[in-house]
Amino acid sequence: MTPTYRGRFAPSPTGPLHAGSLVAALASWLDARAHDGRWIVRIEDVDTPRCVPGADTLILQQLATCGLVSDEPVVWQSRRSDLYKQALDRLLLQGRVYPCGCSRRDIEAALRALGAARERHHSAVYPGTCRPDRGGLQGKPARAWRFDVGGPASLTWNDRRLGPLHQDVAAEVGDFVLRRADGQWAYQLAVVVDDADQGITHVVRGEDLADNTARQILLQRALERPTPVYLHTPLVLGGNGEKLSKQNGAQALDLSDPLDALSRAAAMLGLPAPTKEALPDALSGWVAAWPHRHPA
Ligand code: GLU
Repeated sequence: MTPTYRGRFAPSPTGPLHAGSLVAALASWLDARAHDGRWIVRIEDVDTPRCVPGADTLILQQLATCGLVSDEPVVWQSRRSDLYKQALDRLLLQGRVYPCGCSRRDIEAALRALGAARERHHSAVYPGTCRPDRGGLQGKPARAWRFDVGGPASLTWNDRRLGPLHQDVAAEVGDFVLRRADGQWAYQLAVVVDDADQGITHVVRGEDLADNTARQILLQRALERPTPVYLHTPLVLGGNGEKLSKQNGAQALDLSDPLDALSRAAAMLGLPAPTKEALPDALSGWVAAWPHRHPA
């Protein structure tokens, strides 16, 4: 039992929940319940161009239909810009953030010049064109704000399901964006600020997000905030073998029979079929069977 456990489910309202997001929702809820903890829903609507009006309300309704209700008032990231700005200002004062004037085309050209553009792995790495130690903006107007990862930023951390994970952020990602050229706050900054502000001790989310963890740990360290414990859940794959996502047109969940939808999600998590018909009983059964009780 971990009395101080605080977990969260943080959907982006880019569409209704799909089978994959229900797995993350259920897993985060079960983990919180199995640790006598709090489960908080946070609507991650910082990326406003991708948000669908009304999807937040729909997601909350879908969760409620499944018996998953936030233990504390739901938080919307779009109302928390002040907190993100404070964090950015703090990093600026520390010299960990710099303005970047590169367009996507500039970055591609710089990578081509480095001969790395064809390698997918490297093409995602920002080549550092606007780094202060390389001469900065050099007359270009500032577009985005990037986190200065520093020198080699090799991190190893433990995932409760996946085991030890490793990433060299400098080599595999490079200096990443905290505030985008369109003025939107980047997911990496918002998620770290919110997890810290909400006192989140345990992050349970889909495995597709696992490779963001190292960036988030670097930001937590720079902001002197604690690092939560991470557990990344299995992904639901579509018929084509690709992960289900709202972006690739995953179908909205059919919740006409919530127990059936939850049972499918539970099966993805290695949990048995429910023995009772009532939703609360099924949920309690899965809390009792939750395999990630230890270590917390
Ligand atoms: N908002 C993200 C998503 O819906 C999840 C972020 C997280 O759990 O860290 O994919």
